[in-house]
Amino acid sequence: MSQKNFQSPRGTHDILPEQIAEWRFIENSFRDLCARYSYGEIRTPIFENTELFARAAGEASDIVVTKQMYSFVALDEQSYTLRPEGTAAVVRAFLEGHLNERGPVTKLGYLGPMFRYEATQAGRQRQFHQCGIELLGAAEPESDAEVLAFAADFLKALGIEAKLLLNTLGTPQSRAGYLEELKIYLGARRETLSDDSQRRLETNPLRVFDSKDERDRAAIADAPRLLDYLRANDEESTAHFAQLCRYLDDLGIAYEIDPMLVRGLDYYTRTAFEFVSDKLGAQSTVLAGGRYDKLVEELGGPSIPGIGWAAGIERLILVRAASQAPIPTAPRPTAFLVTMGDAARAAGVGILNRLRAAGISADCDFVGRSVKAQMREANRQQARFALLLGDNELSEGVIAVKDLTTSEQEKLPLETAIAKLLTQQE
Ligand code: ATP
Ligand code: MG
Repeated sequence: MSQKNFQSPRGTHDILPEQIAEWRFIENSFRDLCARYSYGEIRTPIFENTELFARAAGEASDIVVTKQMYSFVALDEQSYTLRPEGTAAVVRAFLEGHLNERGPVTKLGYLGPMFRYEATQAGRQRQFHQCGIELLGAAEPESDAEVLAFAADFLKALGIEAKLLLNTLGTPQSRAGYLEELKIYLGARRETLSDDSQRRLETNPLRVFDSKDERDRAAIADAPRLLDYLRANDEESTAHFAQLCRYLDDLGIAYEIDPMLVRGLDYYTRTAFEFVSDKLGAQSTVLAGGRYDKLVEELGGPSIPGIGWAAGIERLILVRAASQAPIPTAPRPTAFLVTMGDAARAAGVGILNRLRAAGISADCDFVGRSVKAQMREANRQQARFALLLGDNELSEGVIAVKDLTTSEQEKLPLETAIAKLLTQQE
């Protein structure tokens, strides 16, 4: 009988110990900025009622149209979905927890895995990780400027250079007339569109702008622009956008207005933005978001505006690697205990325990190998010090402390050795 070798499901990855330092660096940078900008961390369930995501994403979104949702019917015969994005769940929790009753503005940050059934490629997984923020309760352009400043600071902290693309999508009312125009324009080119976009034509033709299909990109190249339409027909959105641009200028945040930019989810109003890197090939967006003034209402709450963004952590890692940003390494042990003989080996159990109780990272060989093999292991783990313990040291009540960088060695009582190592902890 052949043995089955299990592999992680397609589109998922293990994060191995040697990669963790990089992940923690990104997560810690994000959490530090959440504190600096006063965003409280929120953790929502990994799965929610399917209806929540379907409603939030909108029927014309990629997530729904191309069936990206991991949905399942559980024993209670309810349909649940592994979260494909963070915003819908955060808004659900915001409403359920009555966070809006605590003050006019609520600022939340989250991070964790998201799930989308996608065609996998570099930078596009089925389980991926996002960190993101939401600012709920403010419709003013100052709040747009704040979330963009947070995003720019975050990328800077990670050593990532990315270009900010910015657009305004108006409001559902103000873009209605444009959508009619666009429908006619695209309708005349229907045959040249991808199947998905032919469907989008009926539900939300704006979504064709977000298609990655070459046929759609060609069809849309000379289409009328929403931005031009809004300039002529939506004074408020235009003024909001102009004010945001002024704030960004004041803050020294460079941006490029991209009238072709729309977002993958239907709930965006007014400001939409993406930070793109030229280091990523096709999957160039590292961080994306926008304003969603209708979403809270759409999910059954009062009329509360919001704006937010999410960054894909795997893509941040890819860009950092491609930009030769210094990648943090896993911490190495301060001490590696090397024992000679049965008595020392037995005494080692208690010594390791005392080292760790004192706060020193320490390890040992568990398989009774030769001193030479134990020293090799100490070096492989890049320990700072080897602690050598044999019958002589045991009878003298000391331990030999060998600095593995300088090879200097001295015998010290354990307490003195601990005090010395504590000053050397990384
Ligand atoms: P894309 O246009 O690349 O499909 P999207 O518009 O679907 O992205 P959002 O839903 O706005 O993306 O998610 C925000 C960010 O999350 C993206 O900019 C990207 O960095 C990351 N992201 C989205 N989907 C994936 C995925 N399947 N794998 C890895 N990262 C992803
Ligand atoms: Mg997508």
